[in-house]
Amino acid sequence: MVTTLDISIEKTTKSRVGEYDVNDVPFGKCFSDHMFVAEYADGKWQQAYIKPYQDIPMSYAMSALHYGQAIFEGMKAYKNEKGEVSLFRPDANFRRLNKSAIRMAMPEVPEDIFMNGIFELLRLDSAWVPSSETGSLYIRPFLIATDEAIGVKASETYKFIIITCPAGKYYTEPIKVLVETNYIRAVKGGIGFVKAAGNYGRSLYPTKLAQQKGYQQVIWTDSETHQYVEESGTMNLMFVIGDTVVTPGLSDTILSGITRDSVLTLARDWGLRVEERKISIFEIIEAHEKGILKEAFGCGTAATIAQIVGIGYNGKDYPLPSVESRKFSPKVDETLRNIRKGREKDQHQWMVKVP
Ligand SMILES: *Cc1c(COP(=O)(O)O)cnc(C)c1O
Repeated sequence: MVTTLDISIEKTTKSRVGEYDVNDVPFGKCFSDHMFVAEYADGKWQQAYIKPYQDIPMSYAMSALHYGQAIFEGMKAYKNEKGEVSLFRPDANFRRLNKSAIRMAMPEVPEDIFMNGIFELLRLDSAWVPSSETGSLYIRPFLIATDEAIGVKASETYKFIIITCPAGKYYTEPIKVLVETNYIRAVKGGIGFVKAAGNYGRSLYPTKLAQQKGYQQVIWTDSETHQYVEESGTMNLMFVIGDTVVTPGLSDTILSGITRDSVLTLARDWGLRVEERKISIFEIIEAHEKGILKEAFGCGTAATIAQIVGIGYNGKDYPLPSVESRKFSPKVDETLRNIRKGREKDQHQWMVKVP
């Protein structure tokens, strides 16, 4: 990409990478040496800079803290056998960040700031990218309102920040999920389709209640009838019923996951039937009773595939076929891993190498 973006770079004088085994660190708590920041003020994007990872100087009145004008993205960089670092579909994260920005009355982030901010960080911090089979560097771009003002209105100043952290071995235990029919994640006309901070805060209490009952996650249902399933935790939800891959169709209550799109694309490449439509919990229970509910799983950047091995609904548990018996989702998981590691043909040009 041609760029005129001028990033002022202050390198760390003492890398911390040697303090960790990046292939084996707990996720989300250890951050790479550098971070990227671009500031927005006076109606335009100002100087962009990279600095050693550090705290934000801010006012206690900073508007993001009070009214939640805050959005984020989540994406990963992978290291192949040759040591080259590539990103998985970063263009899709870029577009989605700006979809979130528009809905939250925030300025859109220019593509050269987003992409070159990530590229420059990855060049500086490539030693932080795990090379293990399931490892990656998790990238967290986020945009926050920074006005020092307590008044409910769109902020006039913002910071776009990118921090990264190694995700050494990512392994997800199969999960049991509870169909939630009281609390809701997203409403029609709301912000469920964007990655806005408030969506996640509101989900924690119902998730805690489900965990107290022995489930790991909830399945969110629609706000009007509580009958149609939407997502599982912070993942999109998929089923294999008979030989068809079925997932809730996109709407303003469903986050348009990049993993979701990748899974559906692979399914279509393989000639499977794919349906994106409303799915009622009664249809799932009926398929279970007929023995044709073969797979259920969540999908998202963090886990890629999280196998669902049991569904609780209305006081009853419905155990699902064993993970070993599943054909589609393990094949998707393996194919995506091979594409990311550069071992399989990247037909859809999903991987973007750091230049
Ligand atoms: C981020 C997210 C997903 C998954 O999106 P990916 O692009 O696949 O990571 C699904 N649901 C919600 C609510 C999310 O926030």
